[in-house]
This record gives sequence, structure tokens and C-alpha cells, in this order.
Amino acid sequence: MIDGEEKFHIARRKSKHRSQKYRVAWEYDRTFAWWIAPDPDNSYKARCKICNKSITAEKQVLDKHAICKRHLKNWALKSESETLTLLKTYYLEIENVLC
Ligand SMILES: [Zn+2]
Repeated sequence: MIDGEEKFHIARRKSKHRSQKYRVAWEYDRTFAWWIAPDPDNSYKARCKICNKSITAEKQVLDKHAICKRHLKNWALKSESETLTLLKTYYLEIENVLC
């Protein structure tokens, strides 16, 4: 039997996940620097300058976006700079993640 108080505690445990706000520090992170921007409409979102889309401003979500197939494809299409080739190779070696 679950009484009221116990239910309350379970509900609290479930809602432990907190929304993260966009962090300017990400703009200096090697993984995100070249595509991340703040979302002007929502401080809990980040924008991908390459895919032109909003992403939840959470490290895990951003990490996943950085190696997702669509993102890498968009990047490859947009980027013709040879200086990025090495970095590009590095990313393409990572097993692509669907997003
Ligand atoms: Zn992207």
C-alpha cells in the first residue's frame, strides 16, 4: 500500500531532472564552438548554426547532436575549408548517431 506521503516522495524523485540553461562556455568547447549559438527565443535551448535548428541546451543532447549523421552531413556540405579536414575526419571516425 502506498500512502499519500510516499506517493509525494516518488513524485519528487521522478521530477529530479532539471532543465539546463544555455552556457556561453560551450562556445569555447572544442566540440561545440564551431556550430553552437544561443537560441534568441528560449534560454533553455541552443541553436545549431549548421543545421539551423534548436536543440535542448543539455550537454548530453549537444554531445549527441555533434556526432549525429544529419549534422555531420550538413557540415560536410557547408564546409569546404581544408583547415577543417582533420577535425572532420575525427568526427567521421566516430560511429554515427542517428538523430
Ligand atoms: Zn547540427
